[in-house]
Amino acid sequence: MRVPIIAGNWKMYKTVGEAVNFVRELAGLVAGVSGVEIVVCPPFTALAVVAAQLHSQGGNIALGAQNMYWENEGAYTGEIAPGMLKEAGCRYVILGHSERRQYFGETDVTVNKKVHAALAHNLLPIVCVGERLEERESGTTEEVVRGQVQGSLAGLTAQQVAGLVVAYEPVWAIGTGRTASAADAQQVNMFIRGLLSDLFDEAAAGAVRIQYGGSVKPGNAAELMAQPDIDGALVGGASLQADSFAGIIKNA
Ligand code: PGA
Repeated sequence: MRVPIIAGNWKMYKTVGEAVNFVRELAGLVAGVSGVEIVVCPPFTALAVVAAQLHSQGGNIALGAQNMYWENEGAYTGEIAPGMLKEAGCRYVILGHSERRQYFGETDVTVNKKVHAALAHNLLPIVCVGERLEERESGTTEEVVRGQVQGSLAGLTAQQVAGLVVAYEPVWAIGTGRTASAADAQQVNMFIRGLLSDLFDEAAAGAVRIQYGGSVKPGNAAELMAQPDIDGALVGGASLQADSFAGIIKNA
């Protein structure tokens, strides 16, 4: 069966010092927790030191990045290459987050290039999709999500899809305190799994982990995670405090 994956997306929060203190505290809170994969995604500046801290303390927390570029290296001022993330100790990389799409011009085409590049470097992408409020209200959620899934995962093999993570994050639920109901989230996650079965194959659709993201907190995590097609969470705000992130992990 699918092992749920709870990932903390720190966004543009935490200095190097704060990041190290955080993972030290989190390790104590989640020591011995099993049956769930735990990932923290700090800003680039903190990746290498957090990797070293995670390595020295041992345990069950993996490292991810929040974005990357698709080229191996080159004259791309301000960008970070997949091989750099891998060498810094990352196992995962979040790609196509709605904030990247909204503020930094990310499209399904660029997300797709990044997904291919990540997989070529043995990084597991957490591919984000999700509709905006006006799209939900006009009844086009499935159409929007279909386009994002098709575009972002174009050209992958079924085997590659089986190993990655999709995060369904309705944009109107991110950072707003307004969580999708467990039933609404389940409906879209189930839709995505069905779509992946059509686009790739049933085995890949059965294996791929599909998270929910958007105002996940300790108090709503259990109900969301109990849904058959929700295999974990991508957590923003509530991942910044060790006790609330640990609360979500324990409720997975
Ligand atoms: P939130 O963010 O948990 O603060 O809503 C989720 C995300 O952006 O991944």
